[in-house]
Amino acid sequence: MENVSNRVAQLAVSETLAMSQKSRELQAQGVDVINLSVGEPDFNTPDFVKDAAIKAIENNFTHYSPVPGYADLLQVISDKLKRENGLVYGTDQIVVSGGAKHALTNVLMATINAGDEVIVPAPYWVSYVELVKLAEGKSVVIPTSLESDFKITPQQLAEAITPRTRALMLCSPSNPTGSVYSRSELKALVKVLVKHPNILILSDEIYEHINYEGKHESIAQFSEISDRVIIVNGVSKGYAMTGWRIGYCAAPKWIAKACQKLQGQMTSGTCSIAQKAAVAAIGSDTSFPQMMCKAFRKRRDLAIERLKKIPGFKANVPQGAFYIFAEVSELLGKKFGDQVIASSADLCMYLLNHAHVATVPGSAFGSPEYIRFSYAASEEQLIEALDRIDKAVREMR
Ligand code: PMP
Ligand code: GLU
Repeated sequence: MENVSNRVAQLAVSETLAMSQKSRELQAQGVDVINLSVGEPDFNTPDFVKDAAIKAIENNFTHYSPVPGYADLLQVISDKLKRENGLVYGTDQIVVSGGAKHALTNVLMATINAGDEVIVPAPYWVSYVELVKLAEGKSVVIPTSLESDFKITPQQLAEAITPRTRALMLCSPSNPTGSVYSRSELKALVKVLVKHPNILILSDEIYEHINYEGKHESIAQFSEISDRVIIVNGVSKGYAMTGWRIGYCAAPKWIAKACQKLQGQMTSGTCSIAQKAAVAAIGSDTSFPQMMCKAFRKRRDLAIERLKKIPGFKANVPQGAFYIFAEVSELLGKKFGDQVIASSADLCMYLLNHAHVATVPGSAFGSPEYIRFSYAASEEQLIEALDRIDKAVREMR
């Protein structure tokens, strides 16, 4: 009787959200937990964006909106893509959804058939493989490690391609590693993709504004393949708007049309008020994201310096996003009292229960010998969290 569908039964729970929930529960019990698990800016949404939302309510933007989004929002997104990325997308190539996560879901559901292969470089963001599963596709994971700065090589890509390959997922700047593909690295991947005209490229650019290396490079800039690139982006990270749930895809017309069809049946146009807030955010200059990026860079430097002194933690200097993906294999197999810390999940639970710091196990991202923590927290919190981790790790034998 109480059997959920196979579709849901085979789906894993989002571990980023689960760890965050666990840390909230401990906090509710009065435990002083520092939450470095879920990745979201600790900044508040800027006032000019909030004001636009208030105005939207006052002006009665409270009715159903067009399925792909209000015309003014589609226009500011099209303008943004031109202005910031040098890309030309008509408003009929853009579909606004309830967050980038929803945009990704739409695109996968609209393009993947049962058994189609989707190449997913690991470490990958938690939801990619689960969403591919939901679309009945098959993830083909390309492993990478600290040594290659978590980037796939053209050879690895070529070797992963089969006649069943339908799509490649790319995420730069990356969650969970913070790695950023340079233009020349993207070009090398494009050289491989040119030979396989049926492969779609899903480019998740949600962290584009949190890039410490300079200009954001999108794989859509390469005209050889641009007619099969789908950009997924949104306002969650760049404008500190995670709760507003606005994301979008910019895609070839046929894919945008398919996403619109799907969304028309599943959710309709996304929240009218949040859309008007997004018009203000995306239509503004980038001074707000730049301000956050500067702050995150300072915290990254601080966190990396401190992390180096913790035994058993190895990490690269991330070039973007706000995560450190630390290799912890040396610690696995150690004990605290009778408790064996056998996996990165055990380590994260130990750090949560013993040091009261919430992190996410690398297994959630397809790399079980790592743990991820977000440095989108205040400098005081970061220092305290890393001191606690250091102490807890030294207590393991
Ligand atoms: N892609 C990546 C890589 C992310 O880190 C996130 C953040 N959860 C998303 C997509 C989804 O973002 P949104 O909050 O807009 O759904
Ligand atoms: N992108 C964030 C993270 O990876 C948000 C959580 C989520 O949506 O899964 O932690």
